[in-house]
Amino acid sequence: MFNNLSEKLDKALHVLKGHGSITEVNVAETLKEVRRALLDADVNFKIAKNFTNTVKEKALGQNVLTTLQPGQLMVKIVKDELTQLMGGDVEGINMSGTPTIILMSGLQGSGKTTFSGKLANFLKNKKTKKPLLVACDVYRPAAVDQLHVVGDQIKVDVYSDKGNTDPVAIAQAGIAHAKQNGHNVVIIDTAGRLAVDEAMMTEISNIHKAIQPQETLFVVDSMTGQDAVNTAKAFNDVLNFDGVILTKLDGDTRGGAAISIKSVVNKPIKFIGTGEKMEAIDVFYPSRMADRILG
Ligand code: GDP
Repeated sequence: MFNNLSEKLDKALHVLKGHGSITEVNVAETLKEVRRALLDADVNFKIAKNFTNTVKEKALGQNVLTTLQPGQLMVKIVKDELTQLMGGDVEGINMSGTPTIILMSGLQGSGKTTFSGKLANFLKNKKTKKPLLVACDVYRPAAVDQLHVVGDQIKVDVYSDKGNTDPVAIAQAGIAHAKQNGHNVVIIDTAGRLAVDEAMMTEISNIHKAIQPQETLFVVDSMTGQDAVNTAKAFNDVLNFDGVILTKLDGDTRGGAAISIKSVVNKPIKFIGTGEKMEAIDVFYPSRMADRILG
C-alpha cells in the first residue's frame, strides 16, 4: 500500500533526519521533495501546496531550526498534518434507528456489493446486530445474484425482488421485511454506472429521499486517483453523504484518493477495503495510515 509514496517521503525526510542542525534551505528543499512525492501520488496540486505551506509554518513556529533533533520534529509535523488531512479523529457509523438503515452509493465496479457484504459480516460479528442485505440493482440481474452469493457466504439474509423495476419500492419493501423479521440493520446495495450520469444520480437521490437512511456511504475505488475525488464530489453534491469507503487499498494504489478526499468533500473515510475476501475490511484510522505512509 502506497509503497512509492512512502519511499519518496522517506527519501525527502531522510536528508533532515541525520542533521543535528539544519538550515532554512534544507527545510525548503525537503518540502519541495515532499510536495513532489504527493503530486506523484496523484494528490491534487492545491492540496499538496497547502500541505507543504502548513508544514512550513508549523516548522518555523516550532523553531525547527534550533531544536536538538530537527529531523525528528519535521517528521512529526509532517505526520500530524497528514493525519489531519486524512480526517483527524476516527468517526464510526451512526447506528441509531430501528432498524438502522445504511445506503451504499458509488460507481459500478467500485466495490459496493463486496463492501455491503463485508460490512454486514463485520456488524454480524458484533453479535448484537442482525443485518439484512437488500439488492436494489434493477438493471443487472447478475448484481442481485452476486449479493445472494455474498449473503450465503457470510450467512446473512438477502432481500431481492427480481421482477420489480422500481428500486425505491424494493428498498422500502426491504426495510419492511427487516422490521417483520427482526433485523436491526438494513444495508441497501444500489446500482452504479460506469461514470457519473444524471439518471443514476436521480435514482440514488430518490432512494435516499424515500428511505432517509441514518448513514449514507459512498464507495470508491482507490486505484482511480483524482477521478475518485471528482466522483466523490459529484455524489456528495447530490447525497450529502456521511462517509467514504475506500476500496482496493491492497492493490498498487498511489495514495492520492486517501489523502485528498477528506479535504475536498469534508467527509471522513470510515472504512477501507483491502482485498476481495469478506474479512478484508478495516476501520480507517487516519493516524495509523499516516504512520504507515511515513514508515
Ligand atoms: P460494485 O459494482 O460496486 O458492486 O463492485 P463489486 O463489489 O462487484 O466489486 C468489483 C470488483 O472489485 C470485484 O471483482 C471485487 O471482488 C473487487 N473488489 C472489491 N473490493 C475490493 C478490495 O478491497 N480489494 C480488491 N483487490 N478487490 C476488490
